[in-house]
Amino acid sequence: MQQPPIHETAEHAVLRENARRFARTHIAPHAHAWEEACEFPRELYPQLAEAGLLGVGYPETYGGGGGDLSHALASAEELILEGRSVGTVVGLGSHGIALPPILACGTEAQKRRFVPPVLRGEKIAALAITEPGGGSDVAGITTKAVRDGDVYIVNGAKTFITSGCRADLVTTAVRTGGPGHGGISMLVIERGTPGFTVSKKLQKMGWWASDTAELTFEDCRVPVANRIGAEDTGFAPIMMNFAVERLMLAGNCVAIAQLAYDESVTYARERRAFGKPIMAFQVLRHKLADMVSRIAAARALTSEVAVRHARGEQVPGLAAMAKNTATDMCSFVCDQAVQIHGGYGYMREYLVERLYRDARLYPIGGGTREIMNEIICKTEGY
Ligand SMILES: Cc1cc2nc3c(=O)[nH]c(=O)nc-3n(C[C@H](O)[C@H](O)[C@H](O)COP(=O)(O)OP(=O)(O)OC[C@H]3O[C@@H](n4cnc5c(N)ncnc54)[C@H](O)[C@@H]3O)c2cc1C
Repeated sequence: MQQPPIHETAEHAVLRENARRFARTHIAPHAHAWEEACEFPRELYPQLAEAGLLGVGYPETYGGGGGDLSHALASAEELILEGRSVGTVVGLGSHGIALPPILACGTEAQKRRFVPPVLRGEKIAALAITEPGGGSDVAGITTKAVRDGDVYIVNGAKTFITSGCRADLVTTAVRTGGPGHGGISMLVIERGTPGFTVSKKLQKMGWWASDTAELTFEDCRVPVANRIGAEDTGFAPIMMNFAVERLMLAGNCVAIAQLAYDESVTYARERRAFGKPIMAFQVLRHKLADMVSRIAAARALTSEVAVRHARGEQVPGLAAMAKNTATDMCSFVCDQAVQIHGGYGYMREYLVERLYRDARLYPIGGGTREIMNEIICKTEGY
């Protein structure tokens, strides 16, 4: 039986119920259609805001709903469990990686200008770090921003950008200085800025309802006023942001796996073979026991690290451990879920088929499994 993490309060319970209600009404009835169409309606952003769920974890001063990462995790978990469309939930959540650098390093004027419209659901925000030439080596990015009076002239490309096709503002990592991590700045590049184009909507294995874009900047003139933080200091906020992103991704994995497990339990009770429900086979029950045990372990680690983060602890190593633990668990659970469903598990109309594809992103996105291990090696001191 799934239990909420031990640190959660009555406030989390109310939030969970609210998210469940929203997902049941506004997402679940359309989940399959939106995933197949590779798009969900833009109106869902203001609807989520109206329900008080878009700004969970953001300061009230800028239109957020207050709370911390543990609240954001609880809300996202329920949206996935009840909404049954991972692509929609991750699309709705792209501001979760785009806004934190602005809130951490932006001026008061920048925070007031960029954050509230996004948390009201009027504007969509995306984060652009990865480039066609590489994503793991963040310090090696090549998109160049050259200062010309009160603008930067930006040239380069970004790829795999979640919500990039319809984003109104893109928090973008650019090279303003010399090579390495010391030469990187963050610019907010707005839709409609001449020279900024969405060059491609990418087709992908999973997360279909979310859009993923390749972006091109050609002599794109971005006001210096859109630079977040001092010039050449963008690397630190990128790294700080990663810990939160990785914990949110770990939380997604827990929710996806829980959904795949729940589907499998239901199916195993209903499906019959050799004259009895397949649940009667001990080997199958043991599969389910392994699945639920691993989910419990990943959920416990993820929520503990989230609480540590909310208390102000630096958690890059623990966040990397939580992400790897959760992604391995989710890949295992979704694979087992397909197996339990037999041939139906391979069919598009069965949810586990889609979850299996969705799960494959997690050891890649937000820093690969191998890069997580590199971080763990560093924080362990070897
Ligand atoms: C659906 C999706 C959504 C995404 N959304 C966003 C987004 O919104 N914003 C954004 O900026 N990015 C986004 N990404 C990009 C994602 O973060 C990158 O794909 C990821 O960081 C890996 O970068 P890469 O694809 O360039 O792989 P590479 O860096 O080319 O790595 C290729 C392989 O080499 C391995 N490798 C690389 N370096 C090392 C090393 N030092 N040691 C050991 N192994 C190594 C990697 O682990 C991997 O297995 C998204 C990606 C996907 C697929």
